[in-house]
Amino acid sequence: MASSSKTYIVEHLDPELGAWSELEYLAIARESQDAGAKFCLSSLPPSFKVPDALNEIPAFKAETRGVEELYAADKSRVCLLDPAAASDLSPEDGDKFDAFLFGGILGDDPPRDRTSELRKKGFDGRRLGPVQMTTDTAVRVTRLVVQGKTPLKEISYLDHPELKFNEHESTEMPFRYVKGKDGEPIMPEDSPKRCMNLFFHITMDGVP
Ligand code: SAH
Repeated sequence: MASSSKTYIVEHLDPELGAWSELEYLAIARESQDAGAKFCLSSLPPSFKVPDALNEIPAFKAETRGVEELYAADKSRVCLLDPAAASDLSPEDGDKFDAFLFGGILGDDPPRDRTSELRKKGFDGRRLGPVQMTTDTAVRVTRLVVQGKTPLKEISYLDHPELKFNEHESTEMPFRYVKGKDGEPIMPEDSPKRCMNLFFHITMDGVP
């Protein structure tokens, strides 16, 4: 039986920390803190400057070591959330595992299966249904299932919502989100405001 305190590990796979990822990580840290869980951002380059807002959250821990090293002694406690896994996450997995591992990569459309970098390491994998989620949504859904004991199918989702910047401009987000109490998709604070910049960034760099 795994211990009741859960750790959400995001293995950072991008060379830099983009503005969007930073907002996602802040949302994960705040929600982990509120849920009595821990959030570990692993595999950070040594030169990496952790934003103050993240460091101030007690549940948050920055790690330069990778997840393989961190859990070398007890790999079977770690569950990789993997869009290509054969079985879906269930509330019982909360008893089997106490660390849940996610790819620290922005979603891309169509998905490029960058989660495969973590799959190669041989952790047990579980899927969160067939639709791609953002990393913070994937952590949120995992928490609802393993800590809240809510089956995946009973969670209310919004797929591919339209994000409005102003009355003229909007874009469709090609991901699944959890539906909030107000009926709106739950997204990191400030993300619609920063979304415009992100899209400029993607267009300029060509990097998703
Ligand atoms: N486009 C990337 C996925 C990025 S989403 C890819 O194809 O691999 C970021 C992370 O959220 C993934 O690495 C995975 O850990 C988690 N995730 C997102 N959607 C998921 C799903 N439907 N099932 C399981 N994990 C998911």
